[in-house]
Amino acid sequence: MRDEDLQRAAMMLHHRKKYLAQGGPIAAPIVMSSAYHLPQVQAGGHFYTRAGNPTWDAVEAQLTLLEDAPALAFPSGMAAISAALMACVQGGGRVVLPSDGYYVTRVFADNFLRPLGVSVTYLPAKDYALANFAGAGVVYIETPTNPVLDMIDIPAVAARARALGAKVIVDNTTMTPLLQRPLDLGADLVVAADTKAPAGHGDVLFGHVAGRDAALMTRVSDWRRMSGAIPSPFDAWLVHRGLETLEVRLTRMCANAGAIAQRLQGHKALVSLRYLGLPEDPDYALAARQMAGFGFLVGMTFADETAAERFLSRCPMIQQATSFGGVHTSGERRARWGDSVPLGFVRLSVGIEPLGPLWAAIAAALID
Ligand SMILES: *Cc1c(COP(=O)(O)O)cnc(C)c1O
Repeated sequence: MRDEDLQRAAMMLHHRKKYLAQGGPIAAPIVMSSAYHLPQVQAGGHFYTRAGNPTWDAVEAQLTLLEDAPALAFPSGMAAISAALMACVQGGGRVVLPSDGYYVTRVFADNFLRPLGVSVTYLPAKDYALANFAGAGVVYIETPTNPVLDMIDIPAVAARARALGAKVIVDNTTMTPLLQRPLDLGADLVVAADTKAPAGHGDVLFGHVAGRDAALMTRVSDWRRMSGAIPSPFDAWLVHRGLETLEVRLTRMCANAGAIAQRLQGHKALVSLRYLGLPEDPDYALAARQMAGFGFLVGMTFADETAAERFLSRCPMIQQATSFGGVHTSGERRARWGDSVPLGFVRLSVGIEPLGPLWAAIAAALID
């Protein structure tokens, strides 16, 4: 992480200090109230939790510091993504989406945007570099993509898309604002599933949208208030707590992932290996330029389904689950959801376990 990112992480830990009065709680309180004392409508402050809540304020203040931009909290990554898309799309317009990114975003576009008369174009992440964005109202980027870890050059693509009048939305879930800064690289909106590393403990779904265009953020906030896709104050509190350790966890997770990828290189149990921090990786140069770290996701391709499943079920330090970014190392054979990856492809999300025991468990599970 760069000095500015560390500065933001440090400020985030003390963001509540300026509001504390004598005797006030150091930890953010969970405010479970649907309504607020409202003798007058015009006097400001909270009035109804669909429009705002003090525990959301706490987590949004953290996210605003991390993103260096106003941020709005949502009850899941998909709630944030659908809000950002609904704020930007127009009937008769065109949206460009990655064909190899998070699949629920594609299903949302097919089932809910297309019927509204929005034309949806899918492109592999690799093809964004040379794509023609003429006529696109929204160019949606996900980088590195989940699960294959292909990268899109955000500054180059955002500049071309914005010159043609498109809004650029970036899904930054795989990196978090500490490792990649889409808004500084030219995006209009950043979206993320804080369900993953930001919350980090696998006990809550959450998401956020951030951006510096005030009119666009007002539309996102209106969408939240009118659709009613609002997070629970308790969930906001869990994410607030998770974010306080994000920098420490990410540091360990990325270091573990880098060490494990190095040790997996050329391993005879694998057909191929993907980790953005390996100089041999096809996207290494772009990753080194665009990101402040190489992340915690490793792509392991086994010869077939049986070899991949055997590895996952044998390793006592890999949770077999369909999420990532948590404190526990987890892994999943993604073809079981229909992602267009080889049958033996495993997305490994490296956790915070001490490296020695973790590597020993992985190495033992790889032996024939
Ligand atoms: C998990 C994920 C989402 C969706 O987040 P939820 O909190 O499950 O709704 C969106 N984008 C990416 C890249 C993800 O990995």
